[in-house]
Amino acid sequence: MIYNLLDKDHPMVHLRMEEGNQPEDKVEFSKDMAESMKTWGGIGLSANQVGFPYRMFVMGDGKNYMSCYNPKITVESDTLVPIDEGCLTYPGLFVRILRPDRISVEFEDEFGEVHKDDLEGLMCRVFQHEMDHMDGIDFTSRAKKLHLDMAKRKVKRAKLKLKRAHGKDMLARAS
Ligand SMILES: [Zn+2]
Repeated sequence: MIYNLLDKDHPMVHLRMEEGNQPEDKVEFSKDMAESMKTWGGIGLSANQVGFPYRMFVMGDGKNYMSCYNPKITVESDTLVPIDEGCLTYPGLFVRILRPDRISVEFEDEFGEVHKDDLEGLMCRVFQHEMDHMDGIDFTSRAKKLHLDMAKRKVKRAKLKLKRAHGKDMLARAS
């Protein structure tokens, strides 16, 4: 089952998800979350982005995914790295954000097994981004104003281009 993404202004997107809230069938729910993530073209998706008040997210590439219930970051490195981050809740917006380059994490999978992992690279970044969703934190609030403004202007330009292209198409059809 594919879940639809909530609008960025939906209150659930901005709420902290509590640890106690979990779906009845975690295996099934994880599958649906992974399928939804793949469908919408993401590499991470949090339950509250699609309307479920659970402290859980999935991350991966669609084929392989990790399902994280009650996730925690236990250690963060002091070294911050800039990466252009996107979010399924904000289509087309990519903003430069500084975050630790290594973290240690803990979570339970859909079978109830506890995992402890050290993450770096892309997975490290995705875990931190999804962790923010768990706490109702908007990733744009972590960006510098300059970088956010630049990213927003890019989205605007892309939309305008699309509008113009569409307008031409309508003209072509009319003639
Ligand atoms: Zn996101």
